[in-house]
Amino acid sequence: MKLLITGGCGFIGSAVVRLAIARGHSVVNLDALTYAACPDNVAEAAQSPRYSFEHADIRDRKALDRIFARHQPDAVMHLAAESHVDRSIDGPGTFIETNITGTYHMLEAARAYWAAQGKPDTFRFHHISTDEVFGSLGATGQFTEDTPYGPRSPYSASKAASDHLVRAWGETYGLPVVLSNCSNNYGPFHFPEKLVPVIILNALAGKPLPIYGDGSNVRDWLYVEDHADALLLVLEKAPLGRSYNIGGENERSNLQLVHTICTILDEKRPRSTGSYADLITFVTDRPGHDARYAIDPTRIREELGWRPSVTIEEGLARTVDWFLANENWWRALQNRAGVGERLGVTA
Ligand code: NAD
Repeated sequence: MKLLITGGCGFIGSAVVRLAIARGHSVVNLDALTYAACPDNVAEAAQSPRYSFEHADIRDRKALDRIFARHQPDAVMHLAAESHVDRSIDGPGTFIETNITGTYHMLEAARAYWAAQGKPDTFRFHHISTDEVFGSLGATGQFTEDTPYGPRSPYSASKAASDHLVRAWGETYGLPVVLSNCSNNYGPFHFPEKLVPVIILNALAGKPLPIYGDGSNVRDWLYVEDHADALLLVLEKAPLGRSYNIGGENERSNLQLVHTICTILDEKRPRSTGSYADLITFVTDRPGHDARYAIDPTRIREELGWRPSVTIEEGLARTVDWFLANENWWRALQNRAGVGERLGVTA
């Protein structure tokens, strides 16, 4: 297939680009190259004659129309978004503009292109979203595809709005859409403002390892390459209009997760004295911090036969190895605006 992938220079988008190229697809990577973009993430894939890049903003309808007309994609995988909850607290405006208005322009450009092609039912618009749209769980229960939406941060509210738009374009205009909502990802090329890379890189620098609140907030972690695999499967196999929750069934509190990373680092790069866990420091909590997310992945497992390929321990060990081996990659990102600073406490 020829895939138009938005946000393909970001963390998850680049994993999808790499996997799609490896599996023989053609890829058009559409990215505005915001602070979160790292073109190096796709440097190897970009050597392929089946790869092309379009520097464009999903809020720019004219550019989108040009790109659809030029490349004639068989499917869209829409990942471009503002993605960091802490940044959404300090500056919600760009989240509204990119995640909601940008998705609206993507849908309209895709609809016009699809209509001009004679409305083929083989076309797909795959919208990639998050489990955060479902809100916050108590001590028990899991999110299913039927869980009512209850977003609680500007980021998750903007993603929830984009999900509603995508479903509406499917129902109202018949645009062939599919959706997926995934839990927290981690892995190679993770931008160094998110929890896992912050912990690895602060530990290596001997800096405090910041834990929001008491560290009891629970997330359901998924290795990014397993997410990319699930996304291509959803694109290829999902019935029209269907949505899938994607998760690794790896619930960990933030404190447990950080302890696991410290144990891996203690083995791979021992400190001269003590454990990396000695650097753990509790800091002011995130305003409105969701207590717990947990995904019930029964639908994608039973309908599409998908399962994650690694446990969280294996995935974290691979991630630590990758960060140890790719210092040039992460050092280059540490000067970007906001990286290394505490964000999201202005509320
Ligand atoms: P990211 O922040 O690492 O990358 C986002 C990419 O989108 C960047 O390359 C950026 O340049 C691009 N982009 C941003 N605004 C744009 C615009 N206006 N026009 C064109 N390109 C633009 O994000 P990520 O973590 O890779 O997340 C990708 C998608 O997956 C998002 O839609 C996010 O909501 C969703 N998601 C993320 C997670 C997670 O754990 N990171 C979990 C579930 C779902």
